[in-house]
Amino acid sequence: TDIGAQKDRVVTEEEWLQKWEMGNIGFHKEQGHPLLQKYLDVLLNGRSGLRIFFPLCGKAVEMKWLADMGHSVVGVEVSERALKEFFAEHSLPYCEEPVPGISGAKKFQSTSGNISLYCCSIYDLSSSVVGKFDGVWDRGALVAVNPCDRQRYVSLMITLMEKNSSYLLVTVSYDPNKHKGPPFYVPESEIKSLFG
Ligand code: SAH
Repeated sequence: TDIGAQKDRVVTEEEWLQKWEMGNIGFHKEQGHPLLQKYLDVLLNGRSGLRIFFPLCGKAVEMKWLADMGHSVVGVEVSERALKEFFAEHSLPYCEEPVPGISGAKKFQSTSGNISLYCCSIYDLSSSVVGKFDGVWDRGALVAVNPCDRQRYVSLMITLMEKNSSYLLVTVSYDPNKHKGPPFYVPESEIKSLFG
């Protein structure tokens, strides 16, 4: 297959915001992702009270699952609407504050304190703002990143991981000549070279 077919494709932040405004969010899974349930033990590895990161989080219900299990969840998402829908749909009270050091960014934090969602681009984050994580749930994230930004995304993710962290990655396999994406096709060979 020719992965070059998608190499120059760009989806802008504006286009993502528009998808949320139009309710054009076929990627959202109301029931959560079965692969997280299946591989939860791999993510947790017997540990409790972890810090789990959700890159490009949307309003993923898995954030609620993990918070309910006693973990602390951090997400990042450009769409404020997505984050507000998340809190509303789970009836979670939250507060909103600016993020020192990232102009225009907002942090939405559940009143209980265990869910913090940053409204900004992931490329604005660094470990000095969000710290490091014991686990990552990457679903609809690497595959949603523009192909030209993959290396930058992965390099950033690596800087956000603790030494013994686990990273669950969901990808999709299809013929990239037949669909333009997102989700983009990221072959396993590329995942290996990106993460090293
Ligand atoms: N992970 C979620 C959402 C997947 S869709 C899920 O599983 O349902 C990809 C999401 O990334 C969209 O909600 C989009 O608004 C957001 N997004 C796109 N580019 C982004 C960026 N640079 N920084 C943060 N969020 C981004």
